[in-house]
Amino acid sequence: MISLNDKVVIITGAGGGLGKVYALEFAKRGAKVIVNDLGGSLNGSGNSNKAADLVVNEIIKNGGKAVANYDNLVTNPEGILKTALDNYGTVDILINNAGILKDSSFKNMNENQFIDVLNVHLNGAFKLTKLCWSIFKEKKFGRIIMTASPAGLYGNFGQTNYSCAKLALVGFGETLAKEGYKYNIKTNIISLLAKSRMTEKVLPSHILDKLSPEKIAPLVLFLSSNECPSNGSIYEVAAGLFAQIKWQRSNGLYLNPSDDNLTPELILENFNQIFNFNGKGTDYPIMLKDYNKVWEITSKLPKVK
Ligand code: NAD
Repeated sequence: MISLNDKVVIITGAGGGLGKVYALEFAKRGAKVIVNDLGGSLNGSGNSNKAADLVVNEIIKNGGKAVANYDNLVTNPEGILKTALDNYGTVDILINNAGILKDSSFKNMNENQFIDVLNVHLNGAFKLTKLCWSIFKEKKFGRIIMTASPAGLYGNFGQTNYSCAKLALVGFGETLAKEGYKYNIKTNIISLLAKSRMTEKVLPSHILDKLSPEKIAPLVLFLSSNECPSNGSIYEVAAGLFAQIKWQRSNGLYLNPSDDNLTPELILENFNQIFNFNGKGTDYPIMLKDYNKVWEITSKLPKVK
């Protein structure tokens, strides 16, 4: 049985949608939950205490422990951490979940729409993670979830702002995984699809019916637990699917040119090889040590004429 007993978890944007379900599930397992939500609209306008209050009331009614926080993640991340410290004295787990949408085709997207979305998803996650990091480091325990999206991994019409923010969170999480490793701080990234106000107007109802947020929460709890074996992984999760995403390198074109005969024409001539994902050189790269392999292979090839 995975226990989250007495773990202090901050969940941003936990007044509704996925964050609310996470909050309820963490509380059921004995965690002390900071339910952060400014209670705004889908595009981030307005605010209300009601969303966070309702979730906290429900948790307390069920016998769990939770406290509400209404701070805007971007302008007052310190307030969110303060709520955790004042009420529970520490923080163990951070679920970076809050988000907004300001969709528009790229032609019509203005700079404010772009920056506002990056501010909440990426800069907000940066600010709060930064505040929690030194606590995690000191106690040699920390669990961080970054909420990415298929839109970030694959792109999606009308979401250049959101795609940028979501893929940036992948890189952010991958680097934190490396920096946190020796302090038992584990960071993982989830790319998900679920029914919420973000998707209910864009997906048909027969699909939405299969996409309850309750189907995402078990992975988030697992990745937040003492038992979590995973660090720096990207998960795709929806409707009961739990899978891992990796980058894939094609078999590739290996040349051994000298600097002055590596020409664009040489690449054109051999272009198809760059697209070959079936060759035995196809691989799943992980940072620098892979380049040793590239150098090893290319240096053994005859010089390109
Ligand atoms: P949602 O709109 O129901 O939840 C987001 C919550 O974040 C809202 O309650 C909102 O008030 C809160 N919030 C927004 N800005 C905030 C701020 N500055 N400070 C504090 N709280 C703020 O949407 P959701 O679908 O539950 O989304 C949760 C996360 O999952 C988001 O990061 C979203 O991008 C991501 N996501 C969702 C889906 C999906 O299919 N629903 C897919 C991929 C990624």
